[in-house]
Amino acid sequence: MSKDIYALAEHRQGEMRDVTFEILTKAKILAKETGGSTVAVILGSGIDNLAESLKSYADKVVYIENDKLGHFHSEYYQEALKSLFEERKPFLMVMGHTSVAYELAPSLALKLDIPVITGCIDFRIDGSSVYSVNSVYGGKVNAEYSFNSENGGIVTILAGSMPAEEGGLSGELEKVSFSFDLEFEDKIFLQFVEAVAGEIDITQAEKIISIGRGIKEEENLAMIQELADSIGGVVACSRPIVDAGWLPKSRQVGSSGKTVKPKLYIAIGISGDFQHLMGMRNADTIIAINKDPNAPIFGAADYGIVDDLFKVVPALKDKVAELK
Ligand SMILES: Cc1cc2nc3c(=O)[nH]c(=O)nc-3n(C[C@H](O)[C@H](O)[C@H](O)COP(=O)(O)OP(=O)(O)OC[C@H]3O[C@@H](n4cnc5c(N)ncnc54)[C@H](O)[C@@H]3O)c2cc1C
Repeated sequence: MSKDIYALAEHRQGEMRDVTFEILTKAKILAKETGGSTVAVILGSGIDNLAESLKSYADKVVYIENDKLGHFHSEYYQEALKSLFEERKPFLMVMGHTSVAYELAPSLALKLDIPVITGCIDFRIDGSSVYSVNSVYGGKVNAEYSFNSENGGIVTILAGSMPAEEGGLSGELEKVSFSFDLEFEDKIFLQFVEAVAGEIDITQAEKIISIGRGIKEEENLAMIQELADSIGGVVACSRPIVDAGWLPKSRQVGSSGKTVKPKLYIAIGISGDFQHLMGMRNADTIIAINKDPNAPIFGAADYGIVDDLFKVVPALKDKVAELK
């Protein structure tokens, strides 16, 4: 068994998904500790450029090319990864906890007869054991799980749980040609349908003004929209605002909403429950406005204002107008 940490690079429509860089960053940190290599694994068809783009994030980029891997197909992915795993015996394979991994990770683990932990927010390695941190009971408690990875193991990590850093490596590329002995035609790819992003894509915004239940009434949204407009930002929210029907689901930040990484995130009247923090804690600068000095959001914030938002927001708007 090697001490190498493999990370499955996920891509869609020719673009690498953000979570790929998060898991590669983590894989690099752990590979240093185990004394192994960071190996990025990418599957697909016509993926030379994508594989190339991973070189600075791994010591080695292994890419498996086959037309049958052109779109995600769990059975073909499993076959290719099983063969790679059996041949190279990595210590651990890390995947993003995405719709791909929901289907792939447990079934691959079963085929390989190795342990798997899904939906981690962090994990560490100690000797031959892997310890994960998982948020349970609606985020109220963190649980630790472990398995012995002597024969390999798989972990999947929630997107946004860890930062993605610049690579700084110069990995070698290894192209693996793979042919399938079996056909899995019970399930076929028909077409890619882009999810409706809503009129505003908050994941691309640089400045986000986010509101929570502290806003109290739907009519108070207008004041927030004005503040957002004045700084060229967009309005996002916590889940209760979506549940109340005041903003569409596409604006929800958090574990069951979107993960955002803006330059500026202003959280107004948001308590900062774990599920919300999951979606925004990697913003460059976080400012929290909350009348409760003990609100958990202050634990994640770079700057905090403890006061009534109905006093602070108009004052902020005036200040912005003054500075223009
Ligand atoms: C499976 C699951 C998934 C979830 N997914 C998400 C998710 O993706 N995103 C998400 O956000 N939540 C999610 N939640 C819900 C989450 O647990 C919290 O309930 C939610 O984030 C709380 O929203 P809030 O902070 O707006 O409301 P509250 O927790 O009610 O907080 C309101 C805050 O406003 C402050 N406040 C009130 N009045 C004022 C005022 N006048 N001035 C200043 N501050 C004021 C209060 O002090 C308080 O801190 C999920 C829950 C579950 C169980």
